[in-house]
Formats: sequence, structure tokens, C-alpha cells
Amino acid sequence: MPLLVVGTLAYDTIETVYARRAEVLGGSATYFAIGASRFAPVSLVGVVGEDFKPGDLELLKRCGVDTRGVEVAKGRTFRWAGRYEGDWNKRVTLETQLNVLADFDPKVPDAQRAARYLFLANASPEVQLKALLQVEAPAFTMIDTMNLWIEHARDALYAVLRKVDAIVLNDEEARMLTGEKNLIKAAAAVLGMGPRYVVLKKGEHGAFIMGGDLHFAIPAYPVENVVDPTGAGDSFAGGFMGYLAAQKRHDPQALRKAMLYGTITASFCVQAFSVEALTPLTRTQIDERYDELLQIVTV
Ligand code: AMP
Repeated sequence: MPLLVVGTLAYDTIETVYARRAEVLGGSATYFAIGASRFAPVSLVGVVGEDFKPGDLELLKRCGVDTRGVEVAKGRTFRWAGRYEGDWNKRVTLETQLNVLADFDPKVPDAQRAARYLFLANASPEVQLKALLQVEAPAFTMIDTMNLWIEHARDALYAVLRKVDAIVLNDEEARMLTGEKNLIKAAAAVLGMGPRYVVLKKGEHGAFIMGGDLHFAIPAYPVENVVDPTGAGDSFAGGFMGYLAAQKRHDPQALRKAMLYGTITASFCVQAFSVEALTPLTRTQIDERYDELLQIVTV
């Protein structure tokens, strides 16, 4: 079942308490696509500048990502810089340079308009809506968002929320979007805004999904050697959607398993900078860790 992601490709500069990496490959769509590619073929729609390294496009292709929807625009690639101060769940944005993203007008290639599974990765809600309207009949659409859009583009975000099946949020975003401190109340309030399901991530404390008859919660996979949490959310979404697309199913049982696969994909992502831990990852390694997580949560 074709899977499509629309989102950002970036060069990130990351600081942790232990190390710093400048100008490494990042972006919401990059992490998603590489994570998802371990499960199902995935196409990516996004924009890069003329400075985007040919080797990075090759890397995506080698991972099996269809990059025909990656537009090369005049100017520089989107840049983002962030710092983690001890607590992996707390991130400070140091700098955002939109560059070519400022005028991004997503164009879904004809061949990809029949996508059945669609992920609208972190981007402005206007961009998300434009992309959504180009996909003919998606069976399951999920979006991601962030504090920036909740603060500055709330009405546009509400408009997208009315048209999608699911949204993935972290705890801080859920509280900000709804004004509810309690996460169960916040999730219920998000469901009132349109989507059938809400996936709420609590960083190293796990994640839960709510909607319809489904309420399912799991802990995070216990990673001892966290190196860089950047991309955890996007690679979670990649594992989650990749699994659904591979199964051609999004019923409650498939969604439960997708939560586990998302968690496992993210657990690998955080073990190295950029996409370094995701690119060599095999489905066998994912399945081994999936079984381990099952052991941890089963009585
Ligand atoms: P995550 O850690 O999963 O929330 O995602 C991190 C990625 O999001 C980084 O690689 C950044 O390049 C990207 N990112 C940061 N800010 C934005 C933004 N305003 N819009 C879209 N992507 C962003």
C-alpha cells in the first residue's frame, strides 16, 4: 500500500551535554521516511536548497525512499539548531532558518496521488492542508505539529484536524493545544477537534493511543545509551505508519501493534546522531527488540 510523507528535509545542529554535531542531515520527513522504509515502500514530498548534498539524496534512495517528490529550489536548505540540557525530554530551539521552506508549495507527483497512507509531518498547517488536498483517497492520514503552529497558526491547524484520521503529539503540545493539564483529558479534547485517534508521546515515559473503543498505553523501550533524541517523534511515526501501510490495515489491533513498532523504531533513532542509527537498521533487529518489549510489558 503506497505510503507518502510530506515534510521537511534539514541540516540540523545539535548540542547535548556530551557532544555537538553541526549541519547533520535531519528534518521531519527524513526521519519518518527512513524509519518507515524498514516496513514499506515510502515516497517523500519536500523541498531542499541547491546546497543539499547529492550524497544525502542518494542515502535516502539507498534506503528505498522514492525521492521524486523532493523539489530542489533556489536558495539554502532549511536549517534548525537545538540543545538538550541534561533532560532528554527538554529541548531548546536555538535557531530556525526557514530558507527554501519559506516558500514551500508542496507538489505531490501524479504517481503518488493515489497514496493510501499519508503522514503530514511537522510543517505549517497551510502546507499540510495543501498536500492533503492533492492526495485522492487516503485510507488513513496522520499529522504531526509543534508549539510554533499551535501558537501562531491555530485556526489553520483546526482546519487540518477536521480532515485527518489521527494526530501525534507530545505531552507539552497536547497541553498547549487544549489547555488541559491532565493528558487523558487533553487527549479527549483533541478528539473533539476532529481526528478519530490521538497518539500521545511522553518521551522516555512511553506513549498511548486513544480513540473510539481504543485506549492502549505502552512504556518506551528502555534505551541505556541515548545519544541524540532528535527525530524520535518522526521515526516513531515512521515505524507506526510504515507498519500500517505494510499490513494494509488500520483497525484497533493493527494500531496497537503499530504503537509498538513506532516505539521500537524511535528507540534505535536516539542511539546515534542524525539518521546514523536508522540507516543500517534491519527489520530483523526491529523484530528482535519488538519481542523484547513484549516480554517487558506482558505478565
Ligand atoms: P523530532 O525530534 O522528531 O521532533 O523532529 C526533529 C526534526 O524536526 C529535526 O530534524 C528538525 O530539522 C525538524 N524541525 C525543527 N523545527 C521544525 C519546524 N519548524 N518545521 C518542520 N520541521 C522542523
